[in-house]
Amino acid sequence: MFVATLFFVLAFFLGLLLGSFLNVCIARLPRYESIISPRSRCGSCGHAIRWYDNIPLLSCAVLRAKCRDCGGRISLVYPAVELVTGVWFAVAVYLGAGALQIATLWAAGFLLIGLAVMDWQTQLLPDGFTLTGILLGMMLVCTRTIFLGPHEGDVLLAKHHIELRAPGATHDGGNIFLTGSESLIYGRMAAIAGAFLLLFAIRALYKLVRKRDGMGLGDAKLLAMIAAFLGFAPALFALFVGVCAATLYAVGLLLRGKASGATRLPFGSFLAVGGMVSALYGQAVVAWYTSLFR
Ligand SMILES: [Zn+2]
Repeated sequence: MFVATLFFVLAFFLGLLLGSFLNVCIARLPRYESIISPRSRCGSCGHAIRWYDNIPLLSCAVLRAKCRDCGGRISLVYPAVELVTGVWFAVAVYLGAGALQIATLWAAGFLLIGLAVMDWQTQLLPDGFTLTGILLGMMLVCTRTIFLGPHEGDVLLAKHHIELRAPGATHDGGNIFLTGSESLIYGRMAAIAGAFLLLFAIRALYKLVRKRDGMGLGDAKLLAMIAAFLGFAPALFALFVGVCAATLYAVGLLLRGKASGATRLPFGSFLAVGGMVSALYGQAVVAWYTSLFR
């Protein structure tokens, strides 16, 4: 119990620290600036931020969200990103089954929170996050195959009724099958390609009908990234949640007269939030949905 609480608290603080780094990525990646140097500076006066003014959550509270040098306001998005990342890391430890699933939730959450904020602020979904995420998701799947037991996850493609009587012939003789590792890796590669092509096709169709871009290629890469971390079916659920959330938001804007039919929505932000919902509940929802057809 004590150890579990300790992990929970440590995960929260690790999330706060990485959330602080995530803020640097959010500010610099869309402008193609280095995320390593120079040190963080105040947006108003350009003064380098001291280390003790750069402590997640705490510094912002002590300084009352104002710069120590010029008194310029510090956006509340910074502490919000830190807090959400911290809470996400702690929740992942609570809900994740095993180190590998926790690692997947941490990596996916970090990238999705960053992408949600970047798309909201700049309408950009940098490749530095989406493509890196696809690679990272694939690497985690490859790591999972190491821990598969013998014949675990094997998929039988075709059964041949050839009885091999030669010495040493096994029970599987003549059957065509994918091993668990092969089906996991090939399946995930297909999921990534499928997710990308799905949004790519919707985008092309929209362009054909409306004669203008309705969606960036970044959205397709983002869904591919979600598929890399979670698989195809949970990615579809993420898309469903994203579309529902974006629609509700758009209807809200239209009702308050703050938008017209031509207003652009940062769809990537809604899709990223859908990805986070799916990371936590996607497997359960997919299992429930497929049970309806049994
Ligand atoms: Zn300042």
